[in-house]
Amino acid sequence: MNNLSDFFEKEITISGFAENVRNLQWVQFIVLRNKNGRVQITIEKSEEQNKEMVEIVNGLTNESTIKVTGILKKNEKVKMGGAEIIPSKIEVTSLSAPELPISIKDKNAAEIDTRLDYRFVDLRNDYNSLIFKIQSDMVKYLREFLYEKEFTEIHTPKLIGTASESGSEVFEVKYFDRKAYLAQSPQFYKQMAMAAGFERIFEVGPVFRAENSNTNRHTTEFTGFDLEFSFINSFEDVMELEEELLTNMLTKLHDKYADIIKETYGKEVIVPKTKFPRIKLADLYKELEERYGYKVSDETKLDLTTEAEKLSYKYAMEVYNSEFIFVTDYPKDKRAFYHMRKDGVTQGYDLIWRGVEITTGAQREHRYDVLKKQAKEKGLDEDVKFYLEFFKYGCPPHGGFGIGVDRLIMLLLGLPSIKEAMFIFRGPNRLNP
Ligand code: ATP
Repeated sequence: MNNLSDFFEKEITISGFAENVRNLQWVQFIVLRNKNGRVQITIEKSEEQNKEMVEIVNGLTNESTIKVTGILKKNEKVKMGGAEIIPSKIEVTSLSAPELPISIKDKNAAEIDTRLDYRFVDLRNDYNSLIFKIQSDMVKYLREFLYEKEFTEIHTPKLIGTASESGSEVFEVKYFDRKAYLAQSPQFYKQMAMAAGFERIFEVGPVFRAENSNTNRHTTEFTGFDLEFSFINSFEDVMELEEELLTNMLTKLHDKYADIIKETYGKEVIVPKTKFPRIKLADLYKELEERYGYKVSDETKLDLTTEAEKLSYKYAMEVYNSEFIFVTDYPKDKRAFYHMRKDGVTQGYDLIWRGVEITTGAQREHRYDVLKKQAKEKGLDEDVKFYLEFFKYGCPPHGGFGIGVDRLIMLLLGLPSIKEAMFIFRGPNRLNP
């Protein structure tokens, strides 16, 4: 357990789960586990003053919670950190049922769906709980970088009045006597902040998608890390910022977690050394066909397929030794109406990391007339009337992107599914716990 060495020969009080209770002939051992690690509690049965404690431990089940007061002793024989607590008092603060629904030690002993049913027990496993400690730091590093660059964190509404922002499916909810929708991205409000003169903003918040699919990287509610900034010259500025942001995050994650990630998840944390390669969508398909014989119809080539995402990783590694690749120049038909366009292609990109899309970014169209025309083309001008208003009274040129936090941690640790990467997964068939 961390931080214990300062307390040798002192009386301490410590709380946690009784992970393993062993009742031997002469002695009782408890392994106490809390967020800082594990420590052994040792109770000599023969000692008169221990009588009451021995009774308590006789009735103690694994995974009960306890509060222990005692002297911390150095003991080289104890494998767990060379220390043990000789208690004077043990209090059972909650008694666990004797049989656990799933194993804590072996996370693979149960199917993922059974594990999710008992997520509150499943997350007691070190492999699982560590994911969220790393995720917390990951988001902290992203935030820190942006604060340094003078970004402001904002919070936009998740209950919204219009559904037509992009092609993705939205959830409809009853809102008093009318309909509302759950926000499928903070896009409109991020841009509103640009119109309001905020210049640099970001948000970390929930994103809802009524996607009735069961892939390993889609969920109906995920955490989006979204940012938007003003007075850019082109979407190249947006890509550069994202590159810097992710490189900074990976550097800090590497410093703190490289060894433990390798040991626990078998994954290297690789800090990018150079700029991420950029390739136009059409050129990528050409390369994939020439190099790997990946052939698809011209219609399919208008967007990136899942297979092409995977192969783009292979390509980026082979040619650039990069785990990341920016794919640019998507045709306008496949992108949201608010992406800026030039010569028939949108001024934006998808970023692929380890073969999976983690971001869509772009320069946005900020010119009222052009934006209105683009919305009309997609039949959305009436629905997004309130949004178009943002651009009527002066709005800086701007751009931004959205990163899926859950996908990011899944890819960082090489987890097999986004279900494992989320504290609580939400999918078409899962609304509980
Ligand atoms: P995909 O094509 O993979 O479904 P998308 O193009 O719909 O993604 P965007 O709307 O661009 O995604 O959202 C930005 C980012 O949010 C994505 O790059 C991804 O990291 C994340 N994301 C999008 N949809 C989901 C989802 N259903 N579950 C988890 N993360 C998602």
